[in-house]
Amino acid sequence: THPNKVALITGANRGIGLETGRQLAKLGFTVLLGVRDLAKGEAAAKGLGGHVEPIALDVAAADAAARAADEVQRRFDRLDVLINNAAIHYDTGSRALRPDWTVIRDAFETNVFGAWRVAAAFAPLLAASGHGRLVNVSSEGGSLASMGAGAPAYSTSKATLNALTCVLAAELRGSGVLVNAICPGWVATDMGGPGGRPVAQGAAGIVWAATLPDDGPTGGFFRDGKKLPW
Ligand code: NDP
Repeated sequence: THPNKVALITGANRGIGLETGRQLAKLGFTVLLGVRDLAKGEAAAKGLGGHVEPIALDVAAADAAARAADEVQRRFDRLDVLINNAAIHYDTGSRALRPDWTVIRDAFETNVFGAWRVAAAFAPLLAASGHGRLVNVSSEGGSLASMGAGAPAYSTSKATLNALTCVLAAELRGSGVLVNAICPGWVATDMGGPGGRPVAQGAAGIVWAATLPDDGPTGGFFRDGKKLPW
């Protein structure tokens, strides 16, 4: 079997996903950067030290997750960490009562169904790890406790991702797989825009969830290792 722990991060050619890859590589993980454009992925992987390589994974494409899972099965026979990070459409300024169905459908296709597809495709490999960690990168904007107007496609998709986190944690209880939703905080990336905190800080909370001990939490929602209200 492969000596290093193996981690796969979706949407990892830039932003928080890429930085999470950098931090996990530093910890000695073999890191697979899930990308929809392999050329971008090759370039991103070159910029990180350690064992890092891209893998084709457009989370919105019907068969891509199953194909990527086949490849990981063939090469590594397990997956230790899966990070559902890819997301789109921070539709700031949009109104739920003036719905743009293209934006809303796209947001759900990537942020919810994408994460769901990838989780389903890789769950057997996470279970095969014996110590699998599944991290859904969410947002406090998806918390029902602080839900407000302003980004309806994004906030409802992240609320649904949070619900999925609870369901997956329940289904995987007893398998050794811990499943949690993580808010990275407001982070200065293409999505977050300028003014947010450094990407390294946002990624650190994700790495925390990816490296929880076996008696760590499952089915929770956290930022910087501290509980958030659903
Ligand atoms: P970015 O917009 O900077 O990066 C998004 C990444 O997702 C890109 O690599 C993009 O790839 C990828 N992606 C988009 N669609 C797909 C797809 N269908 N398949 C595969 N990859 C895809 O976002 P951030 O790094 O800021 O965000 C990362 C996560 O953190 C997201 O889940 C986001 O919702 C969450 N988050 C971010 C916050 C912030 O302030 N930045 C706040 C709260 C949560 P490509 O280059 O091909 O477009």
